[in-house]
Amino acid sequence: MAEIPLRETFWNIPLWGIVGVYAGGAIALAIFGWGVWRRVALWRKGGPEMRWDRIPARIGKVIREVLFQARILSQSYPGIMHAAMFWGFLALFIGTAIATIDWEITRLLFDVRILKGPFYLAFELTLDLFGAFLLIGLGLACWRRFVRRPSRLEPTGKFAYAIAILFVLALTGFVIEAARLAVTQPAWAPWSPVGWTLAKAMLASGMGEGALRGLHLSLWTFHALLVFVFIALIPHTYFAHLIATPLNIFFTKLGPRGALAKIEKLEEQETFGVSEFAQFSWKRRLDFDACIECGRCQDVCCSQLSGGVLNPKKVIGKLKRYMHAGDTRPLHGEIITAEELWACTTCMACVQECPAHIDIVDTIVDLRRYLALSEGAFPSTTGTTLQNIQRLGNPWGLDPADRLGWAKGLDVPLLEAGQPVEYLYWVGCSASYDARNQKIARSMVKILRQAGVSFGVMAEERCHGEVGRRLGEEYLYQTAAEENIGNLRRYDFRKVLTHCPHCFNTLANEYPQFDGGQFEVVHHSVLIDELLRTGRIIPRAGTDQTVAFHDPCYLGRQNGVFDAPRAVAAAVPGVKLIEIPRNRARAVCCGGGGGQMWMEVHARKRINIIRAEEIAATGAATVAVGCPYCLTMLDEGRKVAGAEERLQVKDIAELVAESLG
Ligand code: SF4
Ligand code: SF4
Repeated sequence: MAEIPLRETFWNIPLWGIVGVYAGGAIALAIFGWGVWRRVALWRKGGPEMRWDRIPARIGKVIREVLFQARILSQSYPGIMHAAMFWGFLALFIGTAIATIDWEITRLLFDVRILKGPFYLAFELTLDLFGAFLLIGLGLACWRRFVRRPSRLEPTGKFAYAIAILFVLALTGFVIEAARLAVTQPAWAPWSPVGWTLAKAMLASGMGEGALRGLHLSLWTFHALLVFVFIALIPHTYFAHLIATPLNIFFTKLGPRGALAKIEKLEEQETFGVSEFAQFSWKRRLDFDACIECGRCQDVCCSQLSGGVLNPKKVIGKLKRYMHAGDTRPLHGEIITAEELWACTTCMACVQECPAHIDIVDTIVDLRRYLALSEGAFPSTTGTTLQNIQRLGNPWGLDPADRLGWAKGLDVPLLEAGQPVEYLYWVGCSASYDARNQKIARSMVKILRQAGVSFGVMAEERCHGEVGRRLGEEYLYQTAAEENIGNLRRYDFRKVLTHCPHCFNTLANEYPQFDGGQFEVVHHSVLIDELLRTGRIIPRAGTDQTVAFHDPCYLGRQNGVFDAPRAVAAAVPGVKLIEIPRNRARAVCCGGGGGQMWMEVHARKRINIIRAEEIAATGAATVAVGCPYCLTMLDEGRKVAGAEERLQVKDIAELVAESLG
């Protein structure tokens, strides 16, 4: 009768080795547990933050992002590299757990072996293959970090020892297996293809049983010691991300990415934002520990692209070191400078890329809030901008009575209480006052009229305060929000229509944080797309032109609207729609968000110029946008880039309105 395949546990291991495994394992686990306890205690010193809601959705995130490595794999080389290491490591971890259950639980308690027969063969094959994946992943990591050396990675000893320890563990595991197979030569040895190949090489080299047994025992002892060192080191070293990063993904922000947290009961607060490290919440502390220092955020940050001072990887790294060092130096100025904080456009490119799901922008805004609300320390001209919003309801400080000047001659209906309309058209400050952007609102009115959509504008409209909120001036923002919500509630409309993604994000995602602030909000790209699809407007006129669509950060990356504006642009006769190399969720910011529109920006080359050059290089005659900020920034960018003659900038509403004749 054929022998049943069965796992041989502690083959060739004397009693002292078996006793050593249990003793060493217990010590390693105790040091591990102590380390985890210390880390958790450190996180728990932070302030409260509610992240225990929607547990099934959180588990789903962990499955998608940790188990399936979804975001990690969005970049090919580092993605494959990390996934190979992760899956290899995970398989070996699960394999060890199954082997322990088999030997210590089912065998001892029930006299049943799990690891036998076909299951054992599949187990051997799987572990062998995944062990090989781990080695391949480690090789790729070593090559990238220490040979290719991309600027976003540091080739330091911390990473060298992390790679080395895992490499030696995986390699010795294979050699130990090979030595055992070379001696025992079971019929099922080919089910361990890597180990068996090595075993055959050992036999071919003339190694006898004594040598093989000696090699096996010495390497097994070394391997076991290294495993214990590794387990003990996990919570105390870079390997802590094995715990912190999956936990951080579990506690990730589930609401709209673009919504900042509200400061509740603002009038009762004694301090605002974060002035001292102790004021960070526990989640923010977990964020800092979850950072794997991959530099993906640095690569996409528009401040970095333009040679500015802000590097999100460095900001998170500094805060992590500060937390662990128990540093007492002032956070503001000494650790994080105001220049770094104000350089952020809140574009969320970093957050979109971060495989650890770190709330980088929320941290920056928390720090800004202290500067704004406690110190009143605003950059350059933004103090005046904020005063203008507060006093006159628009950032330019123009006369509120002129707010509807854009509608002159259009006979635009003003909302009246008790007279229902389908859409309240929220025009926003840019299209109300800025001559170039007024054309967007006028185009929109033409489209709505031709489609027979019932709409009206609100005479009391004023700035929604988003610039204030992004600059940390939460008080101004909340005042504006409450006033606007009170006014909106006076009218009878089904939906709010807006052509500005900043207005969209504020009204759709942030106003719901206030009583009565829940509105259904539609971006004009979505409505125009619907009007086109249902035949309520039919574009007829057009000239042959190549059009590239630039995704606004607050529309695409932050609110997931990518297809509608493209469909709208493509519906115009003669338009050949092309893509800019960095597009959709990976589009580069125009540089206007986060209050940057109102600041003097210090950079080697401003990001709007870089973006305009990138667009001009596609050969497009027109760059279509769906945001007044993008329109203004790219309009300026193309002029500075010397592309004024060959590249025009238009909102998608303008493109459609022109084609309606
Ligand atoms: S939000 Fe944009 S500008 Fe700010 S740190 Fe992230 S990538 Fe850089
Ligand atoms: S913050 Fe995120 S993207 Fe940036 S280095 Fe850390 S883990 Fe990587």
